[in-house]
Amino acid sequence: MRRVTPDTIAVVDLAVCDRCGLCLPLCPPEALHLELNILTVDDAACTGCEKCVAPCPVGALAMVAYA
Ligand code: SF4
Ligand code: SF4
Repeated sequence: MRRVTPDTIAVVDLAVCDRCGLCLPLCPPEALHLELNILTVDDAACTGCEKCVAPCPVGALAMVAYA
């Protein structure tokens, strides 16, 4: 389990994501998964580091408040 709860976590807009897979190796805790051609963010694993957001070529990733 994560020791510190992040203020924000990543979310993906599947209407924008083109499933290129570029973001997958950029995520240190491997919270991004591409399965059955759907990109998902593991909320419990995302540390809120934002390393995936800027590199996405189509701007499909964004940070939102972690509820
Ligand atoms: S880099 Fe962007 S477009 Fe590519 S799989 Fe990740 S979220 Fe989707
Ligand atoms: S914000 Fe960081 S930990 Fe969360 S999905 Fe993106 S790269 Fe992974």
